[in-house]
Amino acid sequence: MSDDTYDPNCEAIAPLISGALDNELTQQQHQQLHLHLAACAKCSKVYQELSALRGTLKADFTHRQQQQLVTESSGAQRVNLIAWWVLLICGLILAVAGVVSFWFGSDSPVWLKVVMSLVGFSLLALFLNVLKQRLQHAKSDPYTKVKL
Ligand SMILES: [Zn+2]
Repeated sequence: MSDDTYDPNCEAIAPLISGALDNELTQQQHQQLHLHLAACAKCSKVYQELSALRGTLKADFTHRQQQQLVTESSGAQRVNLIAWWVLLICGLILAVAGVVSFWFGSDSPVWLKVVMSLVGFSLLALFLNVLKQRLQHAKSDPYTKVKL
């Protein structure tokens, strides 16, 4: 009781201040808090200080989160690109080797060789098409060059 502006209501209001900062108050509690803050300079100051501190922490946290997100996504994109190129090159080697060994190394009928080759080339064409779409998407993605 050293403070001569001491109000016993201040003690009851303290939990409401933190509740308000966490957006956890009912409308009635909100009114109660703001009536007290309007009348009590001490609690009003505490509320403003905590509110400002919370804003600073929140802004800093958001900034860090965004930086982390950008770093992670550019790393993931690089891994994706490398994986696609490795798949493409291995797919081409397998396709060529498969076609050559199938045509010259087996005694299946010619019609089977033609059909199997067509299936293989169709799969390769589908694969290349997906790859092309992914690369185009990566180039036109407006967020790839965002730097914070
Ligand atoms: Zn107060």
